[in-house]
Amino acid sequence: MVAVAIDGPSGAGKSTIAKAAAKQLGLIYVDTGALYRTVGYAMAREGTNLDDEDAVKQVLSRIRVTFSYEQGSQRVYLNGEDVSEKIRTPEMSMMASRVSALSSVRVFLLDLQRDTAKRQSVIMDGRDIGTVVLPDADVKIFLTASPQIRAKRRHQELVEKGQQVTFEEVLNDVLQRDYNDSHREIAPLKQADDAVLLDTSGYTLEKSIEEVVRIIKEAAPCSIK
Ligand code: C5P
Repeated sequence: MVAVAIDGPSGAGKSTIAKAAAKQLGLIYVDTGALYRTVGYAMAREGTNLDDEDAVKQVLSRIRVTFSYEQGSQRVYLNGEDVSEKIRTPEMSMMASRVSALSSVRVFLLDLQRDTAKRQSVIMDGRDIGTVVLPDADVKIFLTASPQIRAKRRHQELVEKGQQVTFEEVLNDVLQRDYNDSHREIAPLKQADDAVLLDTSGYTLEKSIEEVVRIIKEAAPCSIK
């Protein structure tokens, strides 16, 4: 069994890179951002006042977040409903960022993430995987890139999906989420002391994947196929 933690700011390419590396190495890729997005989606749908702790807890007591894999790609469910596409909008990115600052939400998702890594070998990506969720992970990577590069990549991705957003909107979103994620009190985005820092600003996607695979193989040679 091997556990790989990949953390970093939004748009650093974590999910694309982690997914490709997982495929090459025969590991399960777990996208934890999707879980926060699903909780954000639930709160948005219910019109929950996020400043009202009791209201948030009430919603959490009524929802079930689960995920599964179909043809190697992760699907996420809210009370059994597949919400995998609905959570991929700029609004849901912001909702995820907001709900992820709430301790009740983080506690709600903690066991789900830890249990997943106990049952199988994983590459798990998020913000606090190496620091909080899997502090004993065999390999920890902190993946980053400049805000401009990250916004450019995310903008391209959204446009390809047919969404109408400007580069400026995406850049503002990236900067706002960076600020939220690194300034929150609980589990802020921060590099674990024992994580390898990988800045992909000057790298192509292929080079980034190659580097991540190399780092994992070097750090956990016996556990990888
Ligand atoms: O990775 P993704 O952009 O889908 O994550 C959405 C939001 O969820 C992030 O901006 C972050 O606030 C939050 N998140 C988190 N902890 C994680 C994964 C995501 O706080 N492990």
